[in-house]
Amino acid sequence: MEQTFDKGLIYTLAESGTNKRGQNNTIVNGDGTDLNNIDALKGRAKRKTITQSMMLKLIDIAKENGEPELEKAYWNTYYCQQEVITADGKLYGKYCKNRFCTLCCSIRKAEMINKYYPEMRKWKKPYFLTLTVKSCTAPKLDLYIKKFNIGFRRITAKYRKKHQRGRGKLLVGVKSLECNFNPKARTYNPHFHIITKDRETAEILLKEWLKLWTPKHAKRPAQNIQKVHDLEKGLIEIIKYGSKIFTEPDLKKRAKETDTTQIYAKALDTILTAMKGKRIFDRFGFNLPKSIAKHRPQAKLLSNFKEWEYNPKIGDWESTSTAEVLTGYKAPSHLQAILDNNINANLS
Ligand SMILES: [Zn+2]
Repeated sequence: MEQTFDKGLIYTLAESGTNKRGQNNTIVNGDGTDLNNIDALKGRAKRKTITQSMMLKLIDIAKENGEPELEKAYWNTYYCQQEVITADGKLYGKYCKNRFCTLCCSIRKAEMINKYYPEMRKWKKPYFLTLTVKSCTAPKLDLYIKKFNIGFRRITAKYRKKHQRGRGKLLVGVKSLECNFNPKARTYNPHFHIITKDRETAEILLKEWLKLWTPKHAKRPAQNIQKVHDLEKGLIEIIKYGSKIFTEPDLKKRAKETDTTQIYAKALDTILTAMKGKRIFDRFGFNLPKSIAKHRPQAKLLSNFKEWEYNPKIGDWESTSTAEVLTGYKAPSHLQAILDNNINANLS
């Protein structure tokens, strides 16, 4: 069997086949996931369950809007990790790598935290900054997000030039673009979550941000600046990849998923479309060491492995040869009710 290693990180599950001696073997890429962490596995089953229900709605919306490319991408996510392989205490799957995939995002998030945390913990007094503007309606979101990125780049470039001339501070930090949907007002609130190396950086960014927008659009009280107390938690908090899937219409109940929790599929589609091709998470003013930036997991040949396929009816992966299930996850009734009844395809 020819071994192809050049598909990069996209295909964790590259190829399988039968060798000359009649043994099954398969090639997997990637480090795999630890099978011993049962909570993590159940979490993955939960995300798979949510993602599949979401994608069916988003596929309908893409069809309606005449967006075949997006429709195809949603289907890819629908099938993300549909088949997985386990061997030697590890799990391997094929990832769709789409931004709107909760499975891929959670894996990518863990990777990002591993990449950035060792560098950021060297910062002595990091600060947390939220920059936003007045919420906008769906047709304006795309423009707002463009302005966010252009405006931010303008600020960091200005200070980089000053710094190079020896007359200013280099702004150092990480930033993440996020957008919430307000179902009552039917508005979108794009915002940056930023962790800066120090207080001065945060203060400069805040001052310059307010200068970029008219007072009608960006008011000082809407922005937030505070000291980071727990850097790891802060980093986990800001790497969210764009949008929350669940929205609680009643603000007081926001703390947890309840029966009134809604998934606004059309609003989510609006956010995803506006963020398409734009960078969501980024660093500024520093680089990662080359050894960290270039980590590429190895490909492995497995001859002793189990195959599993996801069954949406039970919300878990089933063995392709025995009656076993992989995680034992059972969607709680309130989650099932949300997925069955509360995916709101119209509001945006
Ligand atoms: Zn995926």
